[in-house]
Amino acid sequence: MKVAIDPGHGMSNTSAGVFDPGAVKRVGGVTFAEADIVLRYGHTLRRLFEDNGIEVFMTRSSSADAAPVGRRARRAADAGCTHFVSLHMNSFRTPQANGVEVQFRDSRKDKPLADRLLRELLQVTGLNDHGNDLRTDLAVLRFGPGPAVLIELGFISNDRDRNFLMEGGNRDAVCRAIFDVITEQG
Ligand SMILES: [Zn+2]
Repeated sequence: MKVAIDPGHGMSNTSAGVFDPGAVKRVGGVTFAEADIVLRYGHTLRRLFEDNGIEVFMTRSSSADAAPVGRRARRAADAGCTHFVSLHMNSFRTPQANGVEVQFRDSRKDKPLADRLLRELLQVTGLNDHGNDLRTDLAVLRFGPGPAVLIELGFISNDRDRNFLMEGGNRDAVCRAIFDVITEQG
């Protein structure tokens, strides 16, 4: 088993040399950027796998790492990965929209993993269920070797979701849940 961890957005995601912050939310004088938050989740998750002797491939490790969205799945496959997990946060124009969502591209290959991830994340976070979505259009999920899922950890535009996800202890718990589900899946 080798797990690709894909913190969404970042440098050269959609155009070369341009940093894509993903969804952004300004609260008072503070700017929250999806790309930064999910990168922190990615590193926490990476540590968990590595501490347990499981190899990891990061599609990007810093805000300077160039990671074109169309190449991430291929790079992970070339690195010998067996699982692909993309980390994102949702955003919506109305601040009430909230909840955890797990997207997948294939009902047979990915859905069992997506279902278990969603169930476990709902239990650990107490956040609302924003559902499981079949997405055949996502370049990042075009990963050949094994299951690929995209986790929308919560809504950056929703105060409750964002405040929850910004807390370090909650980040540890969320990453532990993802780790548990993926390693039980084998
Ligand atoms: Zn995103």
